[in-house]
Amino acid sequence: MNNQELIDKLKEEHILSREEFAQLISTYTPEDKAYAQETAQKIAQKHFGSRIFFRGIIEFTNFCKNDCYYCGIRKSNSECSRYRMSLEDILNCCANAYDWGFRTFVLQSGEDPYYTDEKMLEIIKAIHAAYPDCAITLSIGEKEHDSYQAFFEAGANRYLLRHETATKEHYNALHPAEMSFEHRMKCLEDLKSIGYQTGCGAMIGAPFQTVQTLAEDMYYMASFKPQMIGMGPFIPHHQTPFSQYAHGSVDLTIFLLSLCRIMLPTVLLPATTALGSLDTDGRKAGVLAGCNVIMPNVSPFTNRKKYTLYDNKAISGEDGGEELQVLQKHMEEIGYTLYCAKGDYFSIS
Ligand code: SAH
Repeated sequence: MNNQELIDKLKEEHILSREEFAQLISTYTPEDKAYAQETAQKIAQKHFGSRIFFRGIIEFTNFCKNDCYYCGIRKSNSECSRYRMSLEDILNCCANAYDWGFRTFVLQSGEDPYYTDEKMLEIIKAIHAAYPDCAITLSIGEKEHDSYQAFFEAGANRYLLRHETATKEHYNALHPAEMSFEHRMKCLEDLKSIGYQTGCGAMIGAPFQTVQTLAEDMYYMASFKPQMIGMGPFIPHHQTPFSQYAHGSVDLTIFLLSLCRIMLPTVLLPATTALGSLDTDGRKAGVLAGCNVIMPNVSPFTNRKKYTLYDNKAISGEDGGEELQVLQKHMEEIGYTLYCAKGDYFSIS
């Protein structure tokens, strides 16, 4: 089958074999990319119209006990200036974000043992009580089943945990020995079975990634059927072991985002900050390729600069409100509009 026939097949069957994904990834032409983008855009338009959901990210701590080789807030980065936000700081962020129109708060962080389950429950319950009309998304890394269950019962609705790579050997090349591929995958299974709207995903162009590992990622996502996918380019951070590696390709990221939309028609798919950081028009290109979510940062300005997973992170405006205005303008330039809603996942099957 040629590539455009494979794209049609993906649209019909929502899965391809690993070999077929590998063919698409290794041989797609600009015409194939345009075809995928057009197909993906039509699907997104059908389900979401020209509306883009926006979620407010609160990066509440950049302490991390892990040492992922790619990440700027890894514990071995002694030059990272660390901070933690109090419950009050976090609620202040939510209050501002709510006024700006945000109806989803994304709590993202390093894996910081200071925030015990007890402290997390206090934070989740406080946000849930103050904003019962909003969704709470967690992106705080790997925990055990019972912790995830308790957070869910306290009011958390969604959980983002990128699988990073669906190939064990590749996972081990990106993470130190203390971290395990099996545990990360188990976390994703637990999250989904508990009832979270669950997001997985990978960095495009991460060191040691190959056509085969990417095909495995696509195959895994087609099988796991996440409700959200977080997928952006890898960007090196100068104080990590991967500082000398090249950043991932914007072109390939856009192509794969289109395939994700075609594969999972109603998936919540953000045009990521990393995409916007490599290319000022990156998030627009993402939306035109089928993305339907953007996730501006609503953390206090001083913290936003310290939460650097990679170099040259895009920050626009003085605060989340100004950033939202900039993004609204960008969206209008391509005929889209930001839409104030909780924006839960819905299934069409
Ligand atoms: N600690 C949490 C969430 C924070 S990191 C967790 O482990 O889930 C959120 C995501 O940022 C990671 O999953 C990773 O895919 C991405 N990321 C980290 N370093 C990056 C880099 N150098 N370039 C691009 N994306 C990166």
